[in-house]
Order: sequence, then C-alpha cells, then structure tokens
Amino acid sequence: MKKYPKRKLLFVPSKRDYVRGNRPSVSCILCASRDGNPNVENLILAKDKYVFVTLNLFPYNPGHVMIVPKRHIIDPRSYLDSEVKSIDKWTRRILDVLDEIYDPSGYNIGYNIGNTAGASLEHLHLHIVPRFKNEIGFIDIIGGARVHVDDPKLAAKKLRQKLNSKSRAKKEKR
Ligand SMILES: [Zn+2]
Repeated sequence: MKKYPKRKLLFVPSKRDYVRGNRPSVSCILCASRDGNPNVENLILAKDKYVFVTLNLFPYNPGHVMIVPKRHIIDPRSYLDSEVKSIDKWTRRILDVLDEIYDPSGYNIGYNIGNTAGASLEHLHLHIVPRFKNEIGFIDIIGGARVHVDDPKLAAKKLRQKLNSKSRAKKEKR
C-alpha cells in the first residue's frame, strides 16, 4: 500500500483501524460508553434520564457530536415520547454550544440507519456534524480518513465546560 506523509500538526483519528475491526471488545460501543466501560474512551459531554450526549471518537469534522438514547434501540420508531423530547432539547443546546466554540457555517443533523446508509454502529444515534466553508477535501481523499485540527479529548473538555456553564446560567435565570 502506498504510504502518505504524516502531518504532525493535524489530528488524525484512527478510523481506519476501527473500520478494519479493531474495535474495543464490547458488544455495543455505545452501551459500553453509557455504562462507563473503561475499555471505551469517555467522551460523554452530558446526560439525562433518557439520553447521553457524546463527542464522536472518530469525527467527520471538529465538534461532531452524537445524541444517543440510553436504551439500545435500532430504529427511531421505537422512541418513547420522553426520549424524543430529550433529544430535541439536547439538539438545541448542543447547537448553541457548537456555534460558540466552532462557529461553523452549517450543520448536518441526522441518522444513518443500516450498513448501506453508513451506520457503523447498530445502536441508534443522532449525528450533529458542524460544516465549515473551507473543509479539507483533498487530504480526505488521498488519506482515506478525515483529518482534523481538533483532538476529541480536548474538544470534549471544552464542550463540557460550555455546557455546564450554560446550564448553570439557565438555573440562575429562573
Ligand atoms: Zn447499545
């Protein structure tokens, strides 16, 4: 296989290993993440009774967040009303925070359901992907992986801080 030069200043997630099957040895990575399994990187930003919000360990773009129902369900038609409400609430909160931190020019929000649609995890999850005017295209293609200027662990820290300060501010307003 052809070797590509490493770019030291860019964060390159190891998505390729992941796709090849070198996943953590858990039956569901999202259930494991929900349960605080130490084999899975903890990038959870927030949670409530019904859902948790986590940064994607293999993001398509900086600030790529997933909103995940705590129940292992695989079809949005299985949602309870309370889960839908919670997901909607978190979607709006996350958009506020991502606007502040990343100031993207747009978003893709949605589900990939089934392998054909690109879902690599069965456990249902709503993607929120910030989009930027000058997204890297060329490196993506030659590298076979997205290249990021954002380390997910640092990003998770920033996002948690913002989310916490936001919920505090809301409580104080009441
Ligand atoms: Zn699961």
